[in-house]
Amino acid sequence: MTAPFLPFTRPSIDEETIAEVANVLRSGWITSGPKVLAFEAALSEYCGGRTVRAFNSGTATLEVALRLAGVSAGDTVITTPLTWVATANVILEVGARPVLVDVDPVTRNFDLDQMEAAITPQTKAVIPVDLAGLPVDRDRLYAIAHKHGLRVIEDAAQAFGASWQGNRIGSTGDFVSFSFHANKNLTTSEGGALVLPADIDPGLCERLRLQGVRRFPDGGMDVDVLGGKFNLTDIAATIGLGQMKHIETFTARRRELARGYFARIDPALGLELPVADFANSNWHMFQVLLPAGTDRGRFIAAMKEKGIGVGVHYPALHLFSLYRALGFREGDFPHAERIGAATVTLPLFPAMLDGDTDRVCTALKASLSEIA
Ligand SMILES: *Cc1c(COP(=O)(O)O)cnc(C)c1O
Repeated sequence: MTAPFLPFTRPSIDEETIAEVANVLRSGWITSGPKVLAFEAALSEYCGGRTVRAFNSGTATLEVALRLAGVSAGDTVITTPLTWVATANVILEVGARPVLVDVDPVTRNFDLDQMEAAITPQTKAVIPVDLAGLPVDRDRLYAIAHKHGLRVIEDAAQAFGASWQGNRIGSTGDFVSFSFHANKNLTTSEGGALVLPADIDPGLCERLRLQGVRRFPDGGMDVDVLGGKFNLTDIAATIGLGQMKHIETFTARRRELARGYFARIDPALGLELPVADFANSNWHMFQVLLPAGTDRGRFIAAMKEKGIGVGVHYPALHLFSLYRALGFREGDFPHAERIGAATVTLPLFPAMLDGDTDRVCTALKASLSEIA
């Protein structure tokens, strides 16, 4: 018997959550309602009591955070080229211009020296991204942001469950954005949440989330700001509430599996491994860089043939047509380009077995020698 296909990730949804979703479906109220409020309360508690609002995607939280931060046409926002393209797309969406800076080749997160050097009078905000769940240095990040009067919108889409020097990501800082997409460490199938700083009106955040509508006790309403359609459903929030119970064990299991990879991957294969951080990172992904000259397409195909799913997260975004059309070009960010071209994401999710990491490592060795 051959082992079943091992995907690079898979959500863990327990039976209690599935039953609770069925209850919501039968309840007659399936869009935003009491479950969303309960989910927001649970997220707030997790984030040290800060104000949190739920959204239907992480992308929506980033866009609304930019609007709440007052970013608009004529402003620039600094971020990384090595991220899911949503991070930069939202900057364009609000009419501002993304300024990209290269990544640190070790952490694969944006280089804070280059970030500071890129600040100009037009810079309104900065969007750090915790790639694969490894947090950007929050101490230095906020020191730079405060010095230059910049707003920070943490794209912590991949960092739910991670921490920085003992503080949970989300419990400190300016705006913090989470995604609950199916592949993220905590999922609602699709969804997101925005942690709000104390100077931001949660009511305005809610209006930007839903058509700008303000409702009055007498049943009347007004619209005084252009809002989107970004509300989460009670169905999705119910999944999130079920996931919250497991977040600590999910993270612990991911760290254990990551340790397993470090112990099992043969150094002779010449792979570039991620930073071995078992205190801060939530190990959203385990990403290795293939040796120079390796044909990634053939490697992925060879792994698939052996029943192992491999992902690519992500090609450097400035090389996408939309961004080239804005003037970015090859050679602009050499580290991001090299990493984006060589990176592969190995399977890692809480329900994975220790034996699965053995399978992956065996397939890894065989695939690399096959295509050499
Ligand atoms: C997933 C992700 C997003 C977008 O989240 P969605 O919920 O898919 O909209 C943004 N940034 C990063 C870094 C992500 O990984």
